[in-house]
Amino acid sequence: MLFVDLDNFKLINDTVGHHRGDRLLELVALRLTTCVRDGDTVARLGGDEFVVMLEDLSEHEIDAATQAEVVGAKIRTALGQAYQIEGADYRSTPSIGITLFGGGHHEAIDEPLKRADLAMYQAKSAGRNTVRFFDPKMQADISSRAELEVGLREALRKNEFQLYYQPQIAGENTIVGVEALVRWCHPMRGIVPPGEFIALAEESDLILTLGEWVLNTACMQLARWEGSPEMARLTVAVNVSARQFHHFNFTEQVLAVLARTGANPKLLKLELTESLLIKDIDGVITKMRTLKACGIGFSLDDFGTGYSSLAYLKRLPLDQLKIDQGFVRDILTDSNDAAISKMIVLLAESLGLTVIAEGVETDDQRRFLASQGCHSYQGYLYSKPIPPTDLEELVNRSRSSHL
Ligand code: C2E
Ligand code: CA
Ligand code: CA
Repeated sequence: MLFVDLDNFKLINDTVGHHRGDRLLELVALRLTTCVRDGDTVARLGGDEFVVMLEDLSEHEIDAATQAEVVGAKIRTALGQAYQIEGADYRSTPSIGITLFGGGHHEAIDEPLKRADLAMYQAKSAGRNTVRFFDPKMQADISSRAELEVGLREALRKNEFQLYYQPQIAGENTIVGVEALVRWCHPMRGIVPPGEFIALAEESDLILTLGEWVLNTACMQLARWEGSPEMARLTVAVNVSARQFHHFNFTEQVLAVLARTGANPKLLKLELTESLLIKDIDGVITKMRTLKACGIGFSLDDFGTGYSSLAYLKRLPLDQLKIDQGFVRDILTDSNDAAISKMIVLLAESLGLTVIAEGVETDDQRRFLASQGCHSYQGYLYSKPIPPTDLEELVNRSRSSHL
């Protein structure tokens, strides 16, 4: 079964009119019928989607696949030739997905269609005008993603997330704040790091629920720590996803969480990424100003890895730039990384912002950063992200070692 979808058909329809679009579809159908043998089937599913079913292919899978692929290539060539419509030439290309079916396997009729459709999507994402075979691994990837998504929704409901905190250090050894980093405490898999689920959560509204949970939990912690003399002045940095920040009531949500938890807004820092600045920069600035007016601070995370325009940077009410760990890692051996981190320090200085380096693992890295003018650090050199009770112990220990 071949699933044939025309590339950019909508564009043709929109630019030269529907009746020419209709004519193009007729010509495509004609050409499709010339690519197959008697007994094969050509059908239009709807819109610019066609399905071709080939009969009597070899009994051996690999040979059948080759035969189907030959027809796929033939269709691609045939549909790629210019179309004459009302005296003008038009071009169109197809993306084609192929799957085998029959051959003794019993399955529902819509299964092969689904597979061919998936393969067609692979063809599209491979750059269009392409033929792609359905690959079982693709199916496996898709199912495991779907499982993960279901798992995440359940986890939110069952309260399986936990916040870890990683200290932020000023100067030689003073803990001045922490970054809250979410963990999924999975009953079977143990502690799952955010790298394995944040991106997926960001593709759906899950990130909104998760993000609100993180914000709420961090603020409750902040309020609790304010009651303890050792912890009272630590800032808490919370990561905010682009989708979350762009949500229409993000500002209200933050203010509501602050009101509900009684956390001091001056100790709350939101970490934004450059990806958030790509769209609606004026809207972003307005939201930042509102939150900033209540005392909330802003740090630009992973700085240098995205696409911030320096002109925008000047307009944003930021407090801090965070040097990405990608530059810190090889700062001692890679002169480009060293140059970039130096540039970020200078930029922060000239914009009147503070600067912090993340992913600091060795004292040599710390000293090098200090020599560049960066005096705040976060990284394994001091501590990994740890649960709140461990953090309290760490803070107590570091206080008493100062005495
Ligand atoms: P990030 O915001 O850049 O966080 C820093 C990551 O670097 C954390 O990974 C941290 O554990 C790790 N790290 C810290 N120090 C070192 C070091 O010295 N060496 C090395 N190799 N790594 C270090 P983690 O906790 O796995 O978080 C990964 C990413 O997941 C975060 O990157 C952040 O983008 C995202 N994330 C975590 N929590 C949240 C959250 O609550 N909301 C959102 N939207 N994203 C989150
Ligand atoms: Ca961060
Ligand atoms: Ca970062």
